[in-house]
Amino acid sequence: MKLQLAVVVALNLLFLSQAKAAPVPFGIVIHGGAGTISRDSMTPVQQQAYETTLKHAVDSGYQVLANGGSSLDAVSAAVVILEDSPLFNAGKGAVYTYDGKHELDAAIMRGDNRGAGAVAGVTTVKNPIKLARAVMERSEHVLLAGQGAELFAKEQQLELVKNNYFDTEFRYQALQKALKALSKTPHQAQLRLSPAFPLEWNVGTVGAVAIDQQGLLAAATSTGGMTAKRYGRIGDAPLIGAGTFADNQSCAVSATGHGEFFIRYQVAGDICARVRYQGKSASVAADEVMQELKTVGGLGGVIVVDNKGGLSWHLNSEGMYRAKRQQGKAAEVAIFKD
Ligand code: ASP
Repeated sequence: MKLQLAVVVALNLLFLSQAKAAPVPFGIVIHGGAGTISRDSMTPVQQQAYETTLKHAVDSGYQVLANGGSSLDAVSAAVVILEDSPLFNAGKGAVYTYDGKHELDAAIMRGDNRGAGAVAGVTTVKNPIKLARAVMERSEHVLLAGQGAELFAKEQQLELVKNNYFDTEFRYQALQKALKALSKTPHQAQLRLSPAFPLEWNVGTVGAVAIDQQGLLAAATSTGGMTAKRYGRIGDAPLIGAGTFADNQSCAVSATGHGEFFIRYQVAGDICARVRYQGKSASVAADEVMQELKTVGGLGGVIVVDNKGGLSWHLNSEGMYRAKRQQGKAAEVAIFKD
């Protein structure tokens, strides 16, 4: 009898320990910017080019996870591919500032110890996400800006390029349109909110969120910011809790859209706070936050991964370049809202 009891207890303990150790599925979600992206505004060739690059990026991140790599390596791998593509407003293909230059912002965060690194207004770093990661892992700081960030990049022996490496004809044309619109009004802040200054002039910020086989959450975002930005303007992407956030107790988020709103409404942090403190699912929390943002005029989207491996995307604009892939499943790629 005693022996039977001992066996039952032992089996239960074994079951419990296995249940506890049951891993959550790994997975990754990426975005390539949100905004006015409608079917009419794209040719089939353009659509194909975006879909191919998104798939390549999500599959590369997925492969890192499948090989047992960390979510930090997965989001970095995906974001570097998107930064190197001229299609997106990050790295090569970044939008132009008012002065015809490029100033790049990026951030990365890990969800276990809330380690984070970010850079703002860098002009010669080929892959700003690599610099953000160096800030997180090889400096005592979280956010470096401008010349200091460039100096750190040099010390870290990251690849540097001339600012015109980031040039593309498509973004140059967007700057010309923006400058024309701006010349007609001294009220820039008003104009940026009006249909005369559509979000598509900026669209293309990139980001990735992932969970790895160890359950570590990570988020990364990289952008050229907004077309014709001035005065050292910095967006939400490099601000922890605004455009980028990761916390193993809730979720990881990367955002894209009108940065000023995402900063003021702490979008990424707010989503994770609703999960952590209100017990909401990440998907419900993200839907709520994006709907609330829309009511105050903030357009864009977010990608989210929760600590149970749930992957989702949420947008209140017409479209968002995006892709996701969960353990054992095929990649899903999407552009339009429906
Ligand atoms: N959020 C970016 C910024 O405001 C722009 C974008 O995502 O389109 O800098």
